Amino acid sequence: MFEKILIANRGEIALRVLRACKELGIATVAVHSTADADAMHVRLADESVCIGPPAARDSYLNVPALLAACEITGADAVHPGYGFLSENARFAEILEQHSIHFIGPKPAHIRVMGDKIEAKRTAQRLGIPVVPGSEGGVGSDAEALSIAKSIGFPVLVKATAGGGGRGMKVAPTEDALSNALATARAEAQAAFGNDAVYLEKYLTRPRHIEIQVLGDGQGRAIHLGERDCSLQRRHQKIWEEAHSPALNIAAINGIGATVAKAMRDLEYLGVGTVEFLYEDGEFYFIEMNTRIQVEHPVTEAITDIDLVLEQIRVAAGGDFELRQEDVKFHGHAIECRINAEHPQTFRPSPGKIVAYHPPGGLGVRIDSAAYHGYTIPPYYDSLVGKLIVYGKTRGECLMRLRRALDEFVVDGVDTTLPLFRRLVREKDIIDGDYHIHWLEDFLAKNGAPSA
Ligand code: ADP
Repeated sequence: MFEKILIANRGEIALRVLRACKELGIATVAVHSTADADAMHVRLADESVCIGPPAARDSYLNVPALLAACEITGADAVHPGYGFLSENARFAEILEQHSIHFIGPKPAHIRVMGDKIEAKRTAQRLGIPVVPGSEGGVGSDAEALSIAKSIGFPVLVKATAGGGGRGMKVAPTEDALSNALATARAEAQAAFGNDAVYLEKYLTRPRHIEIQVLGDGQGRAIHLGERDCSLQRRHQKIWEEAHSPALNIAAINGIGATVAKAMRDLEYLGVGTVEFLYEDGEFYFIEMNTRIQVEHPVTEAITDIDLVLEQIRVAAGGDFELRQEDVKFHGHAIECRINAEHPQTFRPSPGKIVAYHPPGGLGVRIDSAAYHGYTIPPYYDSLVGKLIVYGKTRGECLMRLRRALDEFVVDGVDTTLPLFRRLVREKDIIDGDYHIHWLEDFLAKNGAPSA
């Protein structure tokens, strides 16, 4: 097992990793920018190192500074969390070259899954169903048009290097295609420095269903069921739940088994998530995330398996003791991502939290690095915390979630709490009857609630 882990992240996920390390008896090193000197992860870690000024490229993305921090503290492994360097194959390789373990998959797998076209090809080769689309990147507009016609409109133009919903444009009809291509290319160039795009059939009312996997890198892998992340705004998830209201256990185990087998064939190491769109009873692969995800607590709630702890164990090369039959699902869990954003405009609302009272009680988990008097810096994402609620049934979970949301106090900054208080009382949500465009339709029709 590792002796000292450096956590190359901040906020709630740094805290989450720190907790797993403490339980495993592993010493921790926090790194932080000058803007995060007062952050909770810094206070709770055994040691901390300032790695640069506020801008992420100068601190949390600063590889030489992170290497120096490992060197100074003698850390033998790095946990990258999510975002920042978590899906950077080069970073994983550099660590290896310095004899420091990267707690994540093999660099080759990070690289394959980071290129959406390669990822789709690999998925297909491994027997995972994919969204119909172009075989690879599309060149000229004329070529794109002929491919689009063969797929059938509407089509979605997507950036090969995409992420976070950027570089994605819908072309409802033939006339709109060249415009969609140009916009997606420009957006992709600006965001990723790579303007390659490809085409996919645009599904009109799918759900976003993802399968959690865990592998030992030597051909053993299991799945831990699915999460339904269909409630999204601008392709960003805001509410995740398990089980999906749209699936029965046979369907979950069916797609889970397909994915677990693919991960065994790939000799995948660590935690990962294989993402699908699901429409009319069919699953279509869209991408794989090769890291721990924001919404992992939902799976932890219904399996009682600590994913970060298992992730650290397999990275250290320990015996892989979990078997598929050890994964026993029970109950229902929902996560709400509470962001510091204006409830109507969704503009980030950094600033000082003057009152903070998170809910508690049976079945309520809060993953947050916020505290009374904490100032949310303007430089990073706007997540204040995740509220994860568990119940024996979906009904009990919703009942508890309603209560927990009403109890949650965050004053001094705007948050998305009013939106969730409204959503949890909506009939479609209560019925579990929603898809990936539901939230945007709802906001367009009703506006966002103000309080
Ligand atoms: P990113 O890496 O940018 O997040 P994804 O490929 O994971 O991109 O897609 C993000 C979201 O975009 C999905 O959850 C879904 O809402 C939407 N999306 C992606 N592909 C399609 C498609 N073919 N049809 C309809 N919606 C899609």
